[in-house]
Amino acid sequence: MSAPTFDLGTLHGGLRMPACKDESTARVIQHIPIPTQLVLPLAQHAGEPAHPVVSIGERVLRGQLIADADGMISAPVHASSSGKIVAIEQWPVSRRLGENAPCIVIECDGLDSPVQLSEPIVPFEKVDPESLLQKILHGGIVGLGGAVFPTAQKLMAATAESLEHLIINGVECEPYISCDDVLMREHAAEIVIGAQILLHALQLDHCLIAVESDKPEAIHALADALTELQDSRIVIKQIPTIYPSGAEDQVVQLVTKKEVPTGGLPTDVGCLVQNVGTAVAVHNWINDGEPLISRVTTVTGDGIAAPMNVMARIGTTIADVVNFVGGYTDRAKRLIIGGPMTGKAVSTDRVPLVKATNTILVLSETPAVGTEQPCIRCGECAQVCPILLLPQQLYWYACADDEAKLRSYGLIDCIECGCCDLVCPSHIPLTADFRMAKARMRELADETARAERARKRFESRTVRLEREQLQRAQELLEQRKKVQKAGPQAIQEILERSKSKDNSASEKDE
Ligand code: SF4
Ligand code: SF4
Repeated sequence: MSAPTFDLGTLHGGLRMPACKDESTARVIQHIPIPTQLVLPLAQHAGEPAHPVVSIGERVLRGQLIADADGMISAPVHASSSGKIVAIEQWPVSRRLGENAPCIVIECDGLDSPVQLSEPIVPFEKVDPESLLQKILHGGIVGLGGAVFPTAQKLMAATAESLEHLIINGVECEPYISCDDVLMREHAAEIVIGAQILLHALQLDHCLIAVESDKPEAIHALADALTELQDSRIVIKQIPTIYPSGAEDQVVQLVTKKEVPTGGLPTDVGCLVQNVGTAVAVHNWINDGEPLISRVTTVTGDGIAAPMNVMARIGTTIADVVNFVGGYTDRAKRLIIGGPMTGKAVSTDRVPLVKATNTILVLSETPAVGTEQPCIRCGECAQVCPILLLPQQLYWYACADDEAKLRSYGLIDCIECGCCDLVCPSHIPLTADFRMAKARMRELADETARAERARKRFESRTVRLEREQLQRAQELLEQRKKVQKAGPQAIQEILERSKSKDNSASEKDE
């Protein structure tokens, strides 16, 4: 086995925050029974939504494909339990914009009857890497660390790069969130086997598992699994617990000391990052033939009666999950999907738990937000920014809508971690301003791209019309030349022939 290494890297800025995880990690993962109804959004991943391949009234089995991937970047959706499709309709979902989205609704029969499971690939080394990637494509697996990018496509794109390290990300630095910690404690072997499968698919022989140094149980469980599997290619790397060290670029920097370039990807520095939950999902699909139909989610906060981590079927409503953990406390005021820094508040617990749902956080109080004051240029925000940005400058340019300056000051690299907000003594909602400015920049870029396409269409039409005009002019010129060459007598003969033709035609008419 590889002994855990203690070479702590460094991260610029960031914040040390209270963990608030003791309650939810005090017990083992609890399995939620099959609910009476499951609500499965078609867009649970980055890219194009999946398209339904079932109809209302149809019976489905656990693990059955109910919506297939649509387009290059997309992922399939599978039934999380057996039952009947009762609706394909708009349903409230937890998304950044908080709108409704099309969902497939299954009325569960409680039997949880499985579909004929996909043929497991054991041992996975017996298939070639390309076939393994093709297999992963059909498991509905997406990045469970938050980005929900379809895993197979991410792996396929990475194989074109010269990779050095696979990084399995077990860093969970945001307060309250503990689902990855308990997953590492209780499913370490699956994580390590998932990493081995990914190494084989990527044809790599080096993997780093990044874990924060304040998670001794997880580190020991992973070390035991590595001892068991005798795989020296996989090494545990401990990193400091500073928010936001779990963000993809930051974890790369911490474990390899390589910086992802502005606007770039970890693959630009030879790294591919996958979350520990994704590694387990890959293991479950390749080893057991089970697609991604469940996940571990932290249910916590002082608005929850008994905080814990649960294993829930994808599509279980938040109401059913909260009910399982003993319901809300009298103090419950705010329902957030995700952590306190990056989560999204929702107004109803009818929203379903989806592949991206790592946390259901219920808090008693709305944080006291002071009145926004003018910037005093204290520089606190720049001190904590993990990307080395200058938030106070970005703020000025966001207010002035100065896109060129926002670009040159690197707004595009802002990971919206919220650190600058937390320390700003003037209570300026910097992250919200940056989010809006980024959305405006994206809109502008789309508009520019649309205008460019229209300009190209106009230019090619003009070229075509000019070409046709030139062609017509040349034809006329040719005709004129022929007539001139024939001479006046020939012209007279042509005219007379044409006249006699006209006369004979009119005699026939009579
Ligand atoms: S922390 Fe707030 S007040 Fe201080 S420089 Fe940044 S934006 Fe200005
Ligand atoms: S929200 Fe953006 S600007 Fe603010 S600290 Fe995080 S990365 Fe830096």
